[in-house]
Order: sequence, then structure tokens, then C-alpha cells
Amino acid sequence: MPIQSRWTTPVPEVSLQKWVFGSSFGRLTSDPVFIDADRPQNKVTYSDFRLWSKRVALGLQRCGLQNGDRVLLFSGNHILFPSVFMGVVMAGGIFTGASPAFTANELAYQLSNSGAFVLIAAPQVLDIAVKAAEQAKLPKERLFVLNDPNDRSQSASGVRSWMELLANNADAEKFDWVEPLNPCETTCCLNYSSGTTGAPKGVEITHYSYVANGEASLLQHRLNKEATRDTSIGAGLCFLPLYHAAGQTTYAVNHPRMGMPVYVMPAFNFERMLQHIQNYGISSLGCAPPIVRALAKSPLPRKYDLSSVSTLTCGTAPLAPELAIEVEKLWPRGSVFVKQGWGMTELTCVGTIMDPAATARSDSVGEMVPNATFKLMDGDREVTEANKRGELWFSGPTVMKGYWRNPKATQDTIEVENGTRWLKTGDIAYVDSYGPGGMIHIVDRIKELLKVKGFQVAPAELEAVLLERKDVLDAGVVGVKIDGEEVPRAYIIKSPDSKATEADIQKWMESKVAKYKRLTGGVVFTDNIPRVPSGKILRRVLKERAQAELAKE
Ligand code: AMP
Repeated sequence: MPIQSRWTTPVPEVSLQKWVFGSSFGRLTSDPVFIDADRPQNKVTYSDFRLWSKRVALGLQRCGLQNGDRVLLFSGNHILFPSVFMGVVMAGGIFTGASPAFTANELAYQLSNSGAFVLIAAPQVLDIAVKAAEQAKLPKERLFVLNDPNDRSQSASGVRSWMELLANNADAEKFDWVEPLNPCETTCCLNYSSGTTGAPKGVEITHYSYVANGEASLLQHRLNKEATRDTSIGAGLCFLPLYHAAGQTTYAVNHPRMGMPVYVMPAFNFERMLQHIQNYGISSLGCAPPIVRALAKSPLPRKYDLSSVSTLTCGTAPLAPELAIEVEKLWPRGSVFVKQGWGMTELTCVGTIMDPAATARSDSVGEMVPNATFKLMDGDREVTEANKRGELWFSGPTVMKGYWRNPKATQDTIEVENGTRWLKTGDIAYVDSYGPGGMIHIVDRIKELLKVKGFQVAPAELEAVLLERKDVLDAGVVGVKIDGEEVPRAYIIKSPDSKATEADIQKWMESKVAKYKRLTGGVVFTDNIPRVPSGKILRRVLKERAQAELAKE
């Protein structure tokens, strides 16, 4: 029997913008909601957040954006990022964000794959955006630079400033968004993920799924508050990337909805993060494992007053429980618990919830989010015993609509059984007591996907880049653990006349992919890449070979 979440929460069938702002015109507070952590004089209030979003929305409509058109934002974290996100959605468009670490090739792929109508790029990555727009044949008049509203000098690049796109305040005040006819079917965003196999794909998330995800986060927030008897609003610090589901849902949507101010870090720096926690009294931290590792191992955290922190959540990749326990020692015993959260772009974001009243343990990711059901599958057999492993299949209102224009990948990932849509997560898990309330433990991953410092790396994408070289006949990429961190390692069959060295291959990759996707696990020339007769790489075999080789080094 599938296990149902212990919780249910009502999910209103409204647009995401209505869930966040209530209406186009109702009064909103002038409390700051987004504050630049490095330059705190730059801030956006709650009512400004809606006004900026309306300026973007009306501007996009005047630029010709139609319902369902995609807008790609290529930028690091910025206090106006959430307004671009919300503006696209308010205009009836579909938002898609790309990593500012992308090369022109990677950005061009996402531009073409999403069929973006408009590209907005941060000034720091404008050169790459221009090249990518050319590659993807995006008309130049639909590329805008997200320059600082107070800085006129940057418009010299020849690219249109986004100030030209924005509607003025007076017009925006009057703008009334149109509610989608069916929020359960209307896509509001495409967050890219490679899923269980293949290249990155646009994950279609509807307004309804986004709101359901937000309601789950609100419940988690309420449980945390009840457990700590904390009635203050608190403050969040955003260094997780806003283009990724985790940063975007948490900081651009859920925190504003809760009325919790967000200090936005434009770039991550460990010591500056500690300073910000101390200076701004940050109460809630959302991290990826490398940050928890740094908190555990570095002497710096003990130099700062971190006493304002009440919740610390770590997600996006597995976390060693020893690290969590070590980090908890930074606070008086029992006052901060390092909560692991499991989630996936394909289920909007959060998959699990941790009840602080339950016997929470750092090696578990908690229980299923409200309104969700899951089961564990071992091949065709459903595992129904405690402590027995199986692939986690998830069903609930947050499951993606599907992969953008990719019915085959959607069909391979979502299994429909008697009307229930099961998302096959590619994660291996067990529950320590079978039934509602049992704690879930994620223990392995059977999908190809690698997580490098919490970022997605798709082996198929790297293999395709390697195969672009004429002297590479075949390539297989797998993840290996080096110093506890997962990194990609390539096996290459080169043509007999090729003189390519490992350094040549590394250089090639540097020119083609974002830094975190580089082959830091090494390059091995071989004459055999194990494949099944249909051609699929036997990744388990290759991975075992890699681990054995590394063990000998
Ligand atoms: P993403 O779509 O980028 O959020 O990646 C989702 C994948 O990250 C999951 O399917 C897992 O493989 C992995 N992941 C996320 N959170 C955790 C966690 N707490 N423990 C283990 N793996 C995780």
C-alpha cells in the first residue's frame, strides 16, 4: 500500500501571483521584502515588489508577449530578480531562469529549447547573452540588459536596457493581471533539470503546483514556529541561486508570502554569509551540503554571533549526518537542528517535511509533504516493509505537468496507474517504520544525474560535448566521489590517429561548459566503454571501475 502523508492542506486554485499578493490593487505593506545584503540601502518593499512585477508584466505585454510565451532570465541573485519572475507570470508568460555560470552554448541550448520570446541578462554576463542570442537567432530587439535602475552608463553596450521594456509606474499601478482560466493546467515556469536521463529539459510547473508547494512550505514554517514558540517574523538569507527551484520557490515566493524579509546575496562568500547572519539577525538558513561542510570544518563560524539562527535546512544532495551533528554544536545543545530536506525540480521543489515534534534525526529527510503519497518500488514489486530499499515514486499536486515539448521523456518519468500520476524519482530510499509517520531515508540514486556542490550535472550532456570532437569516437561520463564530493569523470575512446592528451580534453570542456561541469574527476582514455546491446552505457559498471581506479591512486 502506498503511504499517504500525515498532513493535508487545502490548496487554493488561484494564480501564483494571487497567492502571493492577494490582488492587483489591494493595499500592501511598505516593509522591505528584498534587501541587498551587500548594499542594504538597496531594497524592495512588499508593495514595490508588486509594482515592479506589474511594470515588467505590462512592459512584456506591450512588447508583444502572448499567453504562454517564455521569458528567459540569465542572471545571478539580485533584489529585482523576483520581480522579473513574478512579472513574467503576471503577464501570462512562462518564466525560465539560467545559471549565470553558463557558456554561450549552454545558454543558446536553453533559449532554443524553451523557444524564449525575450531574454533578459545581467550586465556581468551580457557578452555571453549576446553570443547565445545570435546562436539561437533571437532578434536583438528582444534582448535586454538588467542594468541597475540608477545607472544609466551601462546602456552603452548597444543592447536595450530593460528600463525600455518596463512600463512606467502610473500605467503599472492601473494594470490588472488576468487570472488563468485553469491554474491546474496553466504552466507558469520552466525550471531546467535533466531528470533521470539525458540532457536538461524544461520542467513544466503549473500555478497550482507552485501554490501547493508553497502551502507545504507554510506548514513547515508553522511547525517550526510552534516548536520553538517563536512569534517573531525572522529573516532569511538568500544565497541559493534564484534560477534553481530551491532558491526561487523559497525566496522569490514563499518568504514574501509569509511576510519574511529576504537578504539577497548577489554572490556567495562564506565569511560574508557569516557576517550577514550576525548583522541582520538571520533566523532561517537554506543550504546545500558544501556550506554545511564549511560550517562544520572552518574555524570562522566561531568568530561570529550566529545566535539568531533557529532553523537550518540542507537539501539538493545527500548530507553526511556527522557533518550535521558537528554543525549543531555551533549553538547551545538542542537549540538548532540541521534539518535535511529532499526535493526535486520535477515536484516543484520540496518533497519532504520535518516535524520538529517527531524524533527528528539528521540522517532522515523527514516525511512526505502534505497531500502527497509515495511508494517504494523494487523493479515491478512494491516494497511494503520497513527498512527495505526501493525507488521512490511520488504522487501529489506538486508533480510537474511534464517535460516541455518532450512527451517521450514525460512518459518515461511519469507512470499513470488507475488515474494516479507517479513520478519515478530515480532516488533510492527506505522508511524506518512502514506507514504514515515513518521517516524517509534517501540512500542512493539510480538516475544518471550527478550533483556537484548541489548543482545538476547531466552525464549525457557532457558526453555530447566530448563527442563534438572529431577525434573522440565514444565517451562515457560517471560521477565519482573525491574527498566526499561527487564530481564527473570521463572515459573516452579516441581515434587511432588522435594525439589528444587529458589536458587537451579538459581545455575543450572549459570552453564549452560551466565551471561546475568540468571533468574534475579526471579523464581516462580507454578502448572499451561498457554498453548493453541496445547501446545504453552500463553506468554502474563504469562507476565501479572508476571507484576501483581511484582507490588505487
Ligand atoms: P534538483 O532537481 O536539482 O533539485 O535535484 C533533485 C535531486 O537531488 C533528487 O532527485 C536527489 O537525487 C537529490 N537530492 C535532493 N535533496 C537530497 C537529499 N536531502 N538527500 C539526497 N539527495 C537529495
